[in-house]
This record gives sequence, structure tokens and C-alpha cells, in this order.
Amino acid sequence: MSKVKIPNFKLNNGLEIPALGYGTWLGVNDKIEFRIEDAPKLVEAMLYAIDLGYRHFDTAHLYRVEPEVGFAVRKKIEEGVVKREDIFVTTKIWQHNHRLADAEASVRASLRRMGLDYIDLVVIHWPMAINEDGIDEKIDYLETYRGLENAYNAGLVKAIGVSNFNVEQMRRLLANCTIRPAVNQIQVNLNLLEKDLVSLCQAEDVLVVSYSSFGGMTKAYDKTSPEPKIDNPIMTRMANKYGKSVTQLVLRFLYQKRIATIPKSLTKSRILENASIFDFDIDSEDVATLEKFDCGYRSDRPIFWQDYTHYPFEKIENVPSMEIPLALRKWKNGANLDID
Ligand code: NDP
Repeated sequence: MSKVKIPNFKLNNGLEIPALGYGTWLGVNDKIEFRIEDAPKLVEAMLYAIDLGYRHFDTAHLYRVEPEVGFAVRKKIEEGVVKREDIFVTTKIWQHNHRLADAEASVRASLRRMGLDYIDLVVIHWPMAINEDGIDEKIDYLETYRGLENAYNAGLVKAIGVSNFNVEQMRRLLANCTIRPAVNQIQVNLNLLEKDLVSLCQAEDVLVVSYSSFGGMTKAYDKTSPEPKIDNPIMTRMANKYGKSVTQLVLRFLYQKRIATIPKSLTKSRILENASIFDFDIDSEDVATLEKFDCGYRSDRPIFWQDYTHYPFEKIENVPSMEIPLALRKWKNGANLDID
């Protein structure tokens, strides 16, 4: 089997994190229900990814797959393929668990579900605190972060951070924390470079981790996303020049900007392809061409949260109101979704 060598970035507490990892969100169907039926495929894909050389796995309480993620990691440790310290696991605290004590309890529950002794990185998934009935709990994310600091001090987790925090929220957090956030995991892709937020994070030595790195490029449901699509002629010409694919160009572009990525794929050939980006350089002229696709377009825009306290993105006016999908509120909502 071919092996990939993925370099590390250094976090602000000295810990190393792979510059490219594997995302474990299985996505949702047309009814916004989790594609939990893909969980067995996820285990297979993760086992393959570890054999290939992937070392970072990004999951979350929300994704319902922490048991599968823990299983795959433990299996490869048992087989002697890796040691626990070779693997970097990220998970996230969901919006139901934003009270001080609940944050640490959520970390302990993630540990139990994954069957691990510690987690490498835990982040606050979103700055808003919303309970399972969709009620705005208006809890300050600084309180949630203090709960994470407690988990860190208790040795449950090696690094802590945030996700989906905007510039103002990052500034306020940095001014009020005891342990500096190691990462901010946000949506960054060719359509959404988030220059101000990325500059702030990088100036403050907070690693930016990009989610949905491909934006609408690879998502079948996102038909309205702007160019570049996967067959965009500028992209395909550039990809041919480097002997790479369009998606590899995107991941390499982000790596050259010192942004970590966590592409998700259940397809073996793509799992290999996504990690095979460390043997070429995009030249500065082509980087400038790629930067021109930035138009502020957000492929994942949760408008159903936009009236909640601490919602991090600009609000869209005159959109029909939409209830928060059940799958984002209730855990026990259907076959195989009965994880706590
Ligand atoms: P990605 O941008 O990683 O895209 C995933 C999609 O692209 C899948 O449909 C996959 O298909 C397809 N794909 C993957 N590689 C290729 C390739 N080389 N060529 C063509 N198609 C490809 O999107 P995600 O939204 O899943 O983001 C990645 C990860 O980020 C998530 O899994 C999750 O861990 C995290 N995340 C975090 C969020 C947060 O709020 N913090 C929000 C959203 C995601 P297939 O599987 O069929 O190969």
C-alpha cells in the first residue's frame, strides 16, 4: 500500500498537529437527517486512512460517530500499526453543553464514547448555546471556555480551542482566557478566504483549521455555489500544469497559507488523493489567480441559527424563517441515533 507523509504544524502550546487530517462528518440527507447508515463505511475508510499515513481525525459529539472513531483508532493501536501518541483526535462540545460544569462533563463523555484516555484537541463547536428544544440559553462562550480550561488542567485534553468564532469573538476570548486557544476551526475555501479572521488568528498564533475546504465544489446539494466548480477550466488547466487534481490544488493552496485541512471522503482513491499534496508548490502567480475566487460565499450557512445570541456570521435579511432541524437538536431521534 502506498504511504503518504503528512507534515505537522505546531500549536501555540508546543503540540504538533498534522497539517492535513480526516473529517468524520457523514453529512445529512435531503430531510437534514444524519447519514448514519454510512458509519460502517467510515470505520473502513478510517482504517484505510491510518494505514496510508493519516494521523489526525476530526470528529464531534454532534456527528454521532465518536464510538466509530474511537474503535478505528483503538483497532490500529491493537494491531501495532500506530501508538496512541502518533494519533491526533479532535472532538467538539455541542451547543447543549455550554454551562461551566457541562463542558468538562461533555469532554468526559466523549472520552467514554471513544474509549480513549485523553483527547488531543477539544473545541467549542459553535459560540451559541441552544438547548435541544431550540431555546436560546444565551450562555457566554467564555463560561464554556473556562469549562474547557478545567478539562485541560485535569489532563483530559492536550489542547483546547474554538470553532466558528468570528473576529470579535476571537479578540474577546484572547483577552479573557487563561489558556490561549490553540485553534479556530472555520470554513475557509476558495470562495471564502476569511482574510481578516485568518490574519488575526495567525498574528495571535492560533492555528486556523479549514472545514468544508472544497466549498460547494464537491457538494451535490450545493448547485448554486459560485465558480470554481470541480470542472472549472481555469482550475483544470492549472491542475494539469502541476500534474494534480483540482481538489489537490485547493488543499495545497490552503497548506501554503499555513491553514490545516480535514477533508472528508469515504472513497479510497480520494482519501489517497487528498493526502498527496506535499510534493509540489503552487507558484505565486497561480496563488494570486486562486485568490480571485474569494467572494465571501458561505457554502454552509445555518440561517436557522441566525437570530440566536452569539451567532457568528452576518445575518441575511428577508429569508423565510426556518426551524432548527431536529437532527441538530435531539440526539435520540431515530434508528441508530441513540447515542447520548
Ligand atoms: P469537504 O469539503 O471535506 O467535502 C466533502 C465532500 O467532498 C464529500 O462529498 C466527499 O465525497 C467529497 N470529496 C472529498 N474528497 C474529494 C476529492 N478528492 N474529489 C472529489 N470529491 C471529494 O466537506 P465537509 O463539510 O465534510 O468538511 C470536512 C470536515 O470538516 C467534516 O467532515 C468535519 O469533520 C468538519 N466540519 C466542521 C464543521 C464545524 O462547524 N466545525 C462544519 C462542517 C464540517 P465522498 O465522501 O463521497 O468521497
